[in-house]
Amino acid sequence: MTKTDYIITGVGAAGLILAYRMACDSYFDNKSILIIDINKNLTNNRTWCFWENGEGEWEELLHKKWPKIYFGSNDYSKVIDTTPYHYKMIRSAKFYNGLWEVIDKKSSIKFISSAVKSILEHDNGVEVITDEGSFMSAKVFNSIEFNKHYLAQEKYPVLQQHFIGWFIKTQKNEFDDDVATFMDFKIPQNGTTAFMYVLPMSKTEALFEYTLFSEKLLAKDAYEKAILAYLKDKGIENYTIEETERGTIPMTSYKFQQYNTKNVINIGTAGGWTKASTGYTFMNTTKKTKQLIAFLKGEQNLSKFTKPSKFWFYDLLFLDVLAQHNEEGPNLFSSLFRKNKIQTIFKFLDEESSFTEDLKIIKSVPSIHFAKAVLKRIIYGF
Ligand SMILES: Cc1cc2nc3c(=O)[nH]c(=O)nc-3n(C[C@H](O)[C@H](O)[C@H](O)COP(=O)(O)OP(=O)(O)OC[C@H]3O[C@@H](n4cnc5c(N)ncnc54)[C@H](O)[C@@H]3O)c2cc1C
Repeated sequence: MTKTDYIITGVGAAGLILAYRMACDSYFDNKSILIIDINKNLTNNRTWCFWENGEGEWEELLHKKWPKIYFGSNDYSKVIDTTPYHYKMIRSAKFYNGLWEVIDKKSSIKFISSAVKSILEHDNGVEVITDEGSFMSAKVFNSIEFNKHYLAQEKYPVLQQHFIGWFIKTQKNEFDDDVATFMDFKIPQNGTTAFMYVLPMSKTEALFEYTLFSEKLLAKDAYEKAILAYLKDKGIENYTIEETERGTIPMTSYKFQQYNTKNVINIGTAGGWTKASTGYTFMNTTKKTKQLIAFLKGEQNLSKFTKPSKFWFYDLLFLDVLAQHNEEGPNLFSSLFRKNKIQTIFKFLDEESSFTEDLKIIKSVPSIHFAKAVLKRIIYGF
């Protein structure tokens, strides 16, 4: 069996961005790289949004960007100018196609369409077992969620960011397409953290997403009823549903990196690259793949890639509080948005803030639950 230098298993956002970075970097020209996925997905199966300071790497692939966001809750609501940040949207078909165009030009990178069954480590390399046979590699970058241990443990709470979205088209102009509704908590909460997320792509087209940060998923019609009620409340009546999307993103501080070894690293959602307190994964993946490329040029032991960070601890406390007091979500977010500049919030969530900025953010949220969460962690462990 011939052995490749690298195998990437799963080529969604994380696998694809990593392969793209390898294709763009001459360091990898003489490496053999194999990508394995059930199929080469080129469809609009995802809508990725993120904020970014100024222009970024994916500017040409954007579907839309907004200079302002709206935050709404019963005690604080505001349209906020996010300059120099923009809130940005990518629709996956354009993204997948754009990146594959670059990857496909590289003779060093091959794609195999096959289901991966397991990944086994041997003394002489890593074996990837698929429907089409086995492949050996020195290193494997895996984005397939084989391991769901995080759902079976209790040390770290696991919330889900779960949602159904409708892309609607209206007959007359209804939307201000300069403003993305980031979170609108002015909807029934039913003891959870629930908000509406609205992304107007033009004056007549918008994505309406009913989103929850909670433990249990809902029946499909509960999400749909919430969207219908919101549209009615906004006086939007004449519309067609052009597309729908549904998603569940795990939010947890579970230590996914414990499964990384010298020769196998889990990446993307499977590697814990989702920001635990928000569910945002796309920008993290953009950054971490860049760091991984730099890392590979100097270090061979993949288990050393993930480093401990103060932000892991902040996310842990936030999730401890939100899991214990799920009904408090609107208050927490409302305090955060009322007492801080949006630019500082974005910087904090991007894990780029200074300790002084962190303290400002920490002081802005109701402290009693957080104090109890810290105490519990000191007693029961991190
Ligand atoms: C609907 C939706 C919307 C989202 N929106 C946002 C957003 O706005 N902003 C944000 O930051 N994050 C968002 N996320 C979260 C995150 O960015 C995405 O889930 C992202 O696609 C994760 O990338 P990934 O590579 O980890 O996983 P995926 O993109 O899911 O890729 C995994 C790949 O593995 C393949 N695969 C699975 N099993 C096998 C197997 N046995 N054999 C071979 N291949 C296999 C799949 O075909 C897939 O291509 C969203 C998630 C969803 C579901």
